[in-house]
Amino acid sequence: MSSFHLTVLGSGSAGNCALVETADGTRVLIDAGLSARQVVTRLATLGLQPEQLHGILITHEHGDHASSLEILCRRCPELPIYATRLCGEALRAESRGPGLRTHRAWRLFQPGRGFHIGGLAVESFPVPHDAADPVGFTLRCGDAVLAVLSDLGHATKLALEHARAATTLFIEANHDGPLLQQDTKRPWSVKQRILSRHGHLSNDAAARAVADLLTSGAPLQRVVLGHLSRDCNQPDLASGAVRALTPGAALEIHCAAQAEIGPRLGIAAPPVLAAAEPAAAQSRWTPQLELF
Ligand SMILES: [Zn+2]
Ligand SMILES: [Zn+2]
Repeated sequence: MSSFHLTVLGSGSAGNCALVETADGTRVLIDAGLSARQVVTRLATLGLQPEQLHGILITHEHGDHASSLEILCRRCPELPIYATRLCGEALRAESRGPGLRTHRAWRLFQPGRGFHIGGLAVESFPVPHDAADPVGFTLRCGDAVLAVLSDLGHATKLALEHARAATTLFIEANHDGPLLQQDTKRPWSVKQRILSRHGHLSNDAAARAVADLLTSGAPLQRVVLGHLSRDCNQPDLASGAVRALTPGAALEIHCAAQAEIGPRLGIAAPPVLAAAEPAAAQSRWTPQLELF
């Protein structure tokens, strides 16, 4: 039975927020990029109030990850906010109200330094994105590991190395390449930013990262695709891209939605392999070669 759950409260290019809960009652948000009203309403749907949270982990300071922090900090002055030092400085500098500047419970960390929040062991690692010291996270409870990779221009070796222990991976699948090229709302400069190595992962790039993890023997059982662009992506394109690169893999694929809360997903521990099992058999999936 899982002792650790992920519920995406909402994810997309307009805002991102997810809830992680452990059986011992630890509750944290990963990002707070929905409106404060939506964060409160969606938590209430799950029977929770912001006062019952033990912290908010912030990946980076962009509005679609941090827009409700100011109001949440004013409402909950003791609520710990976990961010890298540069991210914290950027959030305070850009804040329009006193909530973030006077908040008493900042927990600033260095990427790469682990820490605990109740029953959760948290590790962070730098990711390439056009923000102030942005990070990805792995969250561990017992042997169960969840990895969070959002936002990032490309999946670095370091990020994949951190995600390798995860049985569930939340990964950005921001856009479909052709839909972004055809899009008429975004100027060329914005498209270049999205496509840059410090922009956002395309469906194909997310799919390649998932395939790389499986090929390397990662115990990945489930992928949650998030941060889908409303104009330049569709859930079937995002999940289809992952399916296409992982044929035959026993992989559960979810697409997180912007407008509604996702399912409460139990994070499993990796299966225990018999010590005598040959190393080759321990890689649970090998890419199927195209024969014709
Ligand atoms: Zn961002
Ligand atoms: Zn974002």
